[in-house]
Amino acid sequence: MKLFETTATAGHEQVLFCNDQASGLKAIIAIHDSRLGAAMGATRLWPYESEVAALTDALRLSRGMTYKAACANIPMGGGKAVIIAKPEQKTCELLQAYGRFIERLNGRFITGQDINLTPQDVRQINRETKYVVGTQEKSGGPAPVTAIGVLLGMKAAAKYRFGSDNLKGLKVAVQGLGNVGQHLCDWLHQNEVKLFVSDINQAKVSKVARLYGATAVEPEQVYGLDVDIFAPCAMGAILNTQTISQMKASIIAGSANNQLLDEQVHGEMLTDQNILYCPDYVINAGGLINVYHELIGYQEKKAISHVHSIYDTLLELFKKAETTGMTTHKASMQLAEERITQAEQAQMLVSA
Ligand code: NAD
Repeated sequence: MKLFETTATAGHEQVLFCNDQASGLKAIIAIHDSRLGAAMGATRLWPYESEVAALTDALRLSRGMTYKAACANIPMGGGKAVIIAKPEQKTCELLQAYGRFIERLNGRFITGQDINLTPQDVRQINRETKYVVGTQEKSGGPAPVTAIGVLLGMKAAAKYRFGSDNLKGLKVAVQGLGNVGQHLCDWLHQNEVKLFVSDINQAKVSKVARLYGATAVEPEQVYGLDVDIFAPCAMGAILNTQTISQMKASIIAGSANNQLLDEQVHGEMLTDQNILYCPDYVINAGGLINVYHELIGYQEKKAISHVHSIYDTLLELFKKAETTGMTTHKASMQLAEERITQAEQAQMLVSA
């Protein structure tokens, strides 16, 4: 990988490689853009098969955070960190060593909980640095609010595609019944949808099927289901040539990050198949909005009201995509760039 060429092309400002011999910590912190404020992004712990794979993930996810913050009208930058480890290698020493690296950045990077980290883990990191959000004592963790944002996004897409944001009677398939997926199923059940669910963990599938009367589906069958909405809430890159060609859903609205394997090719493939795609970093911004409100003094009402802006932003994006002929993904990137430029100009006016 050509490091400087890669980071310059995607617009990254800084990448840190953190190594702590005593605890065995190996982590990468990527700061994509801090023009509007400190870079925010949760930390993911994953046994990457190679260092290049870890770096690629950190670079891609941190760039997504910049766009996510901008589309959510949050005056913060984008960053992301990955710890290269198996979950069983996670120790208090390793997490605290990681916390010390963050503290040394002196607020330039603010982090929280992502895959394979628990609120307890975040508290270990928090022992060494104050630049942590999303601990349970503060705003209650990001997943429940992320699920609310996905529900609102789904409603906006239904409004745009079917003329009504009432989800009652629609068929919705949820892939992944983790923290976000289970909260989303709860909301969808309350909205009286016909629910189809899949997960590689059979116990989670049985639990959700029992609680909400959902139909259980084998993981590989979820893409070809005859449903109105597909909600990917598991892992990334699930929108690819093989899966899109099976799809019968009219709308894709889910929380997973980096859903498109190739942003351009698969974004266009969805448009060609007349599938309305809710760009991932727009629809899954609820958790980020919630933790941002921790930073400015948490008030639940204000945070949830901010999350409701996801509905309007998506409607704006769908219109923009339709009138310009762009994919919704491209339209969201353009919207983010516009908002960053406007906010930067406003900051310059204030400081002039
Ligand atoms: P999680 O780890 O709690 O849940 C993921 C679930 O997906 C697990 O139940 C897992 O068994 C299941 N899964 C894995 N592979 C699968 C497959 N092939 N088929 C079906 N199910 C599979 O994660 P989460 O916090 O619920 O987040 C879900 C997704 O949303 C992730 O991509 C995450 O990056 C993204 N996201 C989460 C948040 C948040 O607030 N937690 C915010 C933004 C984005």
